[in-house]
This record gives sequence, structure tokens and C-alpha cells, in this order.
Amino acid sequence: MPIRILAPELVSKIAAGEVIERPASVVKELIENSLDAGASQISVEVQGGGVDLIRVSDNGSGIPTSEIELAFRRYATSKISNLADLGNICSLGFRGEALPSIASVAEVEISTQTSSDNIGSYMYLRNGDIARMERRARSQGTTITVRRLFRYFPARLKFLRSANTESSHIAHLISQYALAFPEVRFSLFLNKHLSLQTTGNGDLRDVVSQIYGLEVAKEMGEVEAKDSLTKVSGLVSPPSLARSNRNYLSFFVNRRWVRSPLLIKATEEAYHGLLMDGKHPIAIINILLPAQEVDVNVHPTKAQVKFRHEQVVFADVEKAIKGVMARTPVAKSRVMPFSVTSGQWQSPQMIRDKEPTFIAPLPILELPVLRVLGQLANTYIIAEGPDGLYLIDQHAAHERILYEKILAQWSQKEVEVQGLLQPITIELSPREEEALKAKKELLAQFGFTIEPFGGRSYLIRAVPALITKANLTEAICTLLDNLAGRENSAPWEEKIAESLACHSAIRAGQQLSNEEMRELIRQLEQANQPRTCPHGRPTMIHLSSHQLEKEFGRIG
Ligand code: ADP
Ligand code: MG
Repeated sequence: MPIRILAPELVSKIAAGEVIERPASVVKELIENSLDAGASQISVEVQGGGVDLIRVSDNGSGIPTSEIELAFRRYATSKISNLADLGNICSLGFRGEALPSIASVAEVEISTQTSSDNIGSYMYLRNGDIARMERRARSQGTTITVRRLFRYFPARLKFLRSANTESSHIAHLISQYALAFPEVRFSLFLNKHLSLQTTGNGDLRDVVSQIYGLEVAKEMGEVEAKDSLTKVSGLVSPPSLARSNRNYLSFFVNRRWVRSPLLIKATEEAYHGLLMDGKHPIAIINILLPAQEVDVNVHPTKAQVKFRHEQVVFADVEKAIKGVMARTPVAKSRVMPFSVTSGQWQSPQMIRDKEPTFIAPLPILELPVLRVLGQLANTYIIAEGPDGLYLIDQHAAHERILYEKILAQWSQKEVEVQGLLQPITIELSPREEEALKAKKELLAQFGFTIEPFGGRSYLIRAVPALITKANLTEAICTLLDNLAGRENSAPWEEKIAESLACHSAIRAGQQLSNEEMRELIRQLEQANQPRTCPHGRPTMIHLSSHQLEKEFGRIG
């Protein structure tokens, strides 16, 4: 479409755009124009926080020489021409206001060339007036340079923050557009230094890696859901990768970057029960829906949109993300490398290059991500999983967690020890004393410092840090009793870990806060064998969706 001035009755229907507030608003308008022009490469150069210079170059369609003057007139646009178009906007811009607004508060230089013009054009504007205009050749595309922003507007200059702050706003903005358009190669130069560059290869994960780092990019789960009204796609973080603010939530509606309390709510709803209080996910969510379903003409800088069917969009987004949560594998690695030479389980740091290791598979029954719903009889945690209901025995679950922690610390020789300010005196039976003497070394490896104190009395000076909350005297007596007994043939270290875990675990009847339940479930998910306690009893009962439907007679 050629650039035309909008009819006054159409202008009156367009929400007034107070577009240029700060340097980042200039950048936003210019890159939106580049994207509307179909550019696959956009380079942004910024100096002095954008006040000194902003230059945006693209390889888009260019502006025909015959239209370049018009482009700087108010309400001149090539993107809509009648009222029907206004209800069906597929471009980022549509008000025809940006270029004249920018030219009225800065010095502007433009050079542009289309594929059909033999030679391109160059124009220089000062105070909104054309100061120079000539034909100039260049490759196809457009470069707009904005200098001395707000020079004659001291009130607005005063409102700006430091150059660094303004630059960081611009960098954030470019990051968002890069996330929205992975197929476009963005470069950002801040004071001549390349601050961000994307490949433009179309892979969102690659852009995430450029912006948030490789580690984040690797862990993000893929959102892909199609519903009657919307198509939702993008990447979301697993619950283990939370952030403490909402700056990592990006939403794009028909590829427009929007701020939307509705979409934030839908996303956080999908993580409900999965994150600690005050934690927020990382999410890049693209929502595609018919243009008639969104009104983009409601906000001066087009940063907000209005959905015709808000509740449907909300539900679709929540469902799409929940789908990812249900598929998210919880533990990154459920196998521990086993060192052949040392004969011990070891943490990956500990592996030396040359040492022969093999990965020993553990008997595993993985746990999906669980959402805590509440506590029953101060004894069981009620949780929802992707396939039905889970009732978790809080004591058995905690026992399992502690048991694995204690053994892992022991095998890695990283037992945390807690010295006691007041040593505890215990009186042992002859049988217990025998057990103590026989297993003194092993007990020391687990973090116990036990000294003879005359007769069969002993002083406990230090204990494993994991068990300090327990009733120590009782715990140690039971431990020694277990060691003296012959009931089971498990290795000694497992017996010790089992006994310590049992005594330190939270008890049945203990009321837990939501936070505590979530933490317990998170840790259980990370366990190697989350479904049984160290004694082999189940930690949970699972009622699958199928069972529930059967029980309620919903299916035959
Ligand atoms: P709008 O984007 O709302 O149409 P603008 O003032 O931003 O209004 O731009 C006016 C017109 O100038 C656009 O409609 C478009 O035709 C043209 N234009 C602006 N920037 C570019 C660009 N980078 N490449 C091609 N055409 C452009
Ligand atoms: Mg525009």
C-alpha cells in the first residue's frame, strides 16, 4: 500500500499516541517500522543513552522516493486506509505518527531505497522541517538516524535517567523484539560496543541463549498448543529455574510485545504450587489469534492490548504451560557415576579424567512434577500430578530424602558436621557399647564425635548437621541398637543412614506450612527412589485419573 494521509474521521477513532517519552520509545517505533517493512536484519546503534544518537538500519522494503516526504507527515501511513482495516491490524504500526513525532523533537536523517527505484533518497529534517533532500544510492532498506533528542525540550531531558539507564531500557527492548522475531538478525551497539547480536536463524532457543545464557536456554521447556481460538507457543522454565522478579516474563500477541496482567496471571497460575513464594518463572509466550480477536488500538504506545475473549485466552495460556509442567522431567540426572577404583559413588566434580567410571543405573520410578493442594490429618500431603491424585506420607517422604542425602554426603566424604556447644552424655548398655566400639570409624565418617567418659558413659561432641533437630540421645541409642542387632543384612552405612533419617524426619501429626510442603515435594522429586521409604514402605499412594473416573462411575 502507498503511504496516504488518514481521513480525519479515521484519525478520530485512533487512540492518541503520546509516543516519544524517552530514547527507548524512538528505538521502539523505528524497529517496529523496520519489522513492518519485512526486514531480516536490523542494526541499532546508540550513543549517550540515545540522546546523542540513535541509528536504526534495516534491509526492509525501503520507502519509494515519491513517498518519503509524506512519511514524515502526521497520520500518514501505508498500513491502514479505512475503518475496516483498523479492526484487522496485522502490522505493528498503524497510526502514522511516529516519524513526524520523532522529527519534531530531534534532528532526523533518513536514507532509503526500494527495489524498484533506480536510485534511493536522502533527507535531513530539523525541527520537523525538511532542511535537505537529495537522491542517493544505497542498498535496499532504510537507515534512520536521530540526533540531539529533546535538545529543545529541557523538561523532557530532565525527566530522563542517566545515559546508562536509558541504554539499559533500550537493550531490554531490543532483547524483547529479538525474542519475538527469532528469524530477524538483531545487532545492538551501545557506544560503539556490540552489546547484543542474534543469529536470525529462527530458533527461539538460540535467542534465549544469547539473552539469558546457555544454561537457561538448555533447561527451558517447549510450549506448543493449539486451541479453537489461539495458538500458544514459546519456552518456559522448569520450576527449578525460578527468578525473584517478573522481568523474565515476555508476552507477544500476534508478535506484538505486550504488557499484560492477564497473561502474567495465567502464567503464574500454571506454576501455582510449584514455586516458592516470591519466585517467578522465566517465560517467552507467543500467542497467535485472529486479528479481530485483539484490539491493539487501546494504548498510546501500543504496549497493551484488549482481548475480545479474555477468559478463553487466559485458559489457553494456562493450559499450554501446565502441559509443559506435566512433561517436565524433575531430576536432571538420576544416575550417579560410580568410581571403579575408589569403589564409591561420587559427584561429577569428583570424576577425574583418566579414572575409569561407569554409570550405574539405579532402580528408578520417576516422579512427575507435583502441585501441593493441602495437608490431611497433619500427616499426609495431598498433591495433584499430571495423572491424578497423590497422597504422600510426610514422614516416609522426608525419611527417603534424608536417607539419600546422608548417604550421598558420606560417599562423597562431604558430611556436614555440627559441633555441640553442650556435649551430650549417654549411658550405653554393654551391647550398645560393643556396637559403638566396633563401628567407631564408620560413625566418625558420618560426623559423630563420641568420647569415652568413664564406665559405659560417653560424651557426644559432634553430630551430622542433618540430624541436629532430632532427639539426639534417643537417636543414638536406637542407632547403636540397630547396629548391634542382626535383623537385616543391609550394609552398615545403609543401616546408619536409615536410622538417622528415621529419627530426624518430620513426624506424622506435625502441621506443615504450604511452603514446607512444597519444599518437601521438591526434594522428594529429586530423590533417586522417591516412591519408597528406606525401609521399603511406600511414601505415597497414587490414584490415577483413570482410577478416579472409574471409582466415580464416569467410565465403565
Ligand atoms: P506507521 O508505522 O504507523 O505507519 P510511521 O510514522 O512510523 O507510521 O511511518 C510512516 C510510514 O513510513 C509507514 O507507514 C511506512 O510506509 C513508512 N516507513 C517508515 N519506516 C520505514 C522503514 N524502516 N522501511 C520502510 N518503510 C518505512
Ligand atoms: Mg511506525
